[in-house]
Parts: sequence; C-alpha cells; structure tokens
Amino acid sequence: MEDKIIFITGASSGIGWATAEAFSKRGAQLILCGRRKEKLEILARKLDVKTTILIFDVRDKKAVFDAIENLPENWKKIDILINNAGNAHGLDPVQTAKLEDWDAMIDGNVKGLMYVTKAVLPNMLSAKKGHIINLGSIAGKEVYPNGSVYCSSKFAVDAFTQGLRIDLNSEGIRVGSVHPGLVDTEFSEVRFKGDHQRARKVYQGIDALSANDVADAILYMASAPEKVNVADLVLLPTRQANSYVSNREK
Ligand code: NAP
Repeated sequence: MEDKIIFITGASSGIGWATAEAFSKRGAQLILCGRRKEKLEILARKLDVKTTILIFDVRDKKAVFDAIENLPENWKKIDILINNAGNAHGLDPVQTAKLEDWDAMIDGNVKGLMYVTKAVLPNMLSAKKGHIINLGSIAGKEVYPNGSVYCSSKFAVDAFTQGLRIDLNSEGIRVGSVHPGLVDTEFSEVRFKGDHQRARKVYQGIDALSANDVADAILYMASAPEKVNVADLVLLPTRQANSYVSNREK
C-alpha cells in the first residue's frame, strides 16, 4: 500500500474512519472526505501519513465534481476509491415513513455514490488501473421489516457495483463490494435521529462487528494480488444469520 492514493468517503466516522487508520498503517496516502471538517481534521492529525481533506455532501453533484476536479495534481492519481459514505434515516413502514428520509437515503447512498464514482473514474481510466470498493450491506441482499427504502438503496449499490464491474472489465479496473451486517458505529444514532437508547439497543446481545472488522476486510480486498478481485464479500457477526434473523443473548 506504500505510496498508493486511497480516496475514502465518509471518513469522519465509523467504518470510513477505521479504514483510514488501517490503510495509514500500511503507508498509504489518504484523501479523507465527509461533511464534518473538524472530525476529519482530528483524524488527519492522528495519522502518520500524507492526507488531504475534502469537504462535500455526496448528494451535491456540483460540489462532488468540483472537489474532485480541483484536487492538486499530486493527489489526482487515485489508486483505490472506497465509496463508504452513507446512512439509514428512520425505520418505518412505507405508509408512515417520511419522504425526507427517503430522499436522504436514495440521494446519498445511491446517487451520491454514483457521482463520486463518475468523478474519480477519468483518472483511473487514463491510468488503466484502479480499484473501486463499494459499501453495500446485508440490507442490500435481503429486505427486512420497515427497511424498504434503506434496503432499496443498498440493493441499488449492489446492482451498480455489478454493472460497473461489467463496464470496466476491459479497462483493468477492479470493482467489488463489501456487505456488512450489524456494525457498531454512529449508524444507528443517525438512523434514530439521536435517540441514544434506541440506537444502543440495536447492538445489545449481538456482539456486533466493529468498524475495525470491516476495515480489515476492505484492506484484505485491496491487498489481494492484482489478478484477484474480491467481487462480493458478505461479513456478518456470528450471532447474525441474515438481515432479520439473529441469536441475541438474553
Ligand atoms: P457512520 O458511523 O454513521 O458513518 C457514516 C459516514 O458517512 C460518516 O463519515 C458521514 O460523514 C458520511 N456521510 C453520510 N452521509 C453523507 C453525505 N450525504 N455526504 C457525505 N458524507 C456522508 O456509519 P457507518 O456504519 O460507518 O457507515 C458507513 C457505511 O457502511 C454506510 O454506507 C452504511 O450504509 C454502511 N453499512 C453500515 C452498517 C452498520 O451496521 N453500521 C452495516 C452495513 C453497511 P459526515 O456526517 O461527516 O458527512
């Protein structure tokens, strides 16, 4: 990983933050993205490698393209894009769910990931190499109750990843995705709009994955020999069987 340039969206928290730490230990140079500048600055100070920070909301098409097109020349040759930014908003049946929650999930998790990919691609295409790793979810493999739109967004990430792998097959660019089950991050705090008690309940008695567990998997995908593409990796806590069956400790 020494001297490789890694572009991580959603590096200000959870899986993105842990992934930045994991790659920094391998000497990679990191482009850290998110909306919370102060968090990214704390992370950058902690890491012992060259970093640059990009502040944009992935839903803002112009901001995404401006930020990536205006990267300094020495940061433009991105080796690995980790499309991690995303969240769930609400856990409600269709009939009572809020439209603004749907917009946030579809615009961020789906369109935002697509914009970032499209903006980063020209440099990978001219280099005839690169690696794109998307954060899907077990929610993108099986739908669970009250998760119709979050699950839709992650099914879309899975479909986009498969299509991208076909489109880039002739270009020497690897495309894969990782689909975690329950990971103990800020994810549920965001989903339940700061209801801390409700958020903590999600991870009770399940021995959830940590952000580091997922970062290890991403590092494994990125470190595989050039001829190996880890196309689709599902990673669950042992106590979780699928997106809606788990064996919680009482
Ligand atoms: P997290 O701790 O809440 O982190 C989410 C990250 O995404 C933050 O850094 C946030 O940064 C960024 N982000 C969210 N919306 C954004 C937007 N519109 N524009 C730019 N950045 C945005 O959650 P996490 O668990 O690490 O989630 C990371 C990814 O893993 C997500 O795609 C999530 O769907 C997926 N995932 C999570 C779980 C889980 O159980 N936690 C399971 C499967 C998949 P700012 O707020 O600073 O912008």
